[in-house]
Amino acid sequence: MHFFIAITLTILAAMAPIPQKKVAITIDDLPFLWGNIYLTPEQESQAFRKVMAALKKHDVQAFGFVNGSRIKAYHRELLDEFVTAGHVIGNHTSTHPDLNTTTVDWYEKDIASGQAEIAPWVGETKYFRYPYLHEGPTETKRSAIADYLSKNNLVSVLVTIDNDDWLYKGEYGQAVKLHHKSQADSIGAVYLGHMRERTAYFDSVSMAKVGRSVNHILLIHMTLLNADYLDSLLTWYTNQGWQFISPKEALADSVYRLPQKYLGPNGISALLRI
Ligand SMILES: [Zn+2]
Repeated sequence: MHFFIAITLTILAAMAPIPQKKVAITIDDLPFLWGNIYLTPEQESQAFRKVMAALKKHDVQAFGFVNGSRIKAYHRELLDEFVTAGHVIGNHTSTHPDLNTTTVDWYEKDIASGQAEIAPWVGETKYFRYPYLHEGPTETKRSAIADYLSKNNLVSVLVTIDNDDWLYKGEYGQAVKLHHKSQADSIGAVYLGHMRERTAYFDSVSMAKVGRSVNHILLIHMTLLNADYLDSLLTWYTNQGWQFISPKEALADSVYRLPQKYLGPNGISALLRI
């Protein structure tokens, strides 16, 4: 009898669905971040739209964080298309200052300018992403900006999977510029491997520190590299059984409201701050 109960329990345990890992996609440095390569407005627009096509193909709703001072006339229709496609535009300051080396006053003005510059594309909820993920090297600076954000109804969108994808954009741009196809391909392959490794690493940090796989938020940048590789990256997530959720849904996870223990100059994953 016990034998059958044991077998039944084993079968039931095997049938219990494994909770699906979830990830939201956020893209920084819109309208576009070049890397060692000059792109004409047409090429830049084409790359921007390629990122959007990858999001659409995988049915992903993303947040894009804009540096307002970098919006040129030809970017406006791209931002229009981004919002029309169902994505959300957030504030990434006007000029991308570094809170480690900027005064609180200057930084707050830059957030305010950035908010005014992106106003045509912002919906009801206002979102903010710290440049370099630097949230303030001292308690004074950190709490001053956190207070400013909360007084101005700006929601800070944290990151759990921080991947340094911007490190690859320069080398990749250089290879593309020189028409070194095989070199560009190998940088792309290394980049994808790096993303896979970072994803596994931060999910293991999540398991170790929170005891579960949280609703992850991935940070990537609006670059030529991601124009060429976002589709492959999203395909990999799907093949690994990950589910895409909107950043808004990800933010509902209580992990983003846990008190932060880390205080310092580094721009690090929210999982390493708690
Ligand atoms: Zn940035």
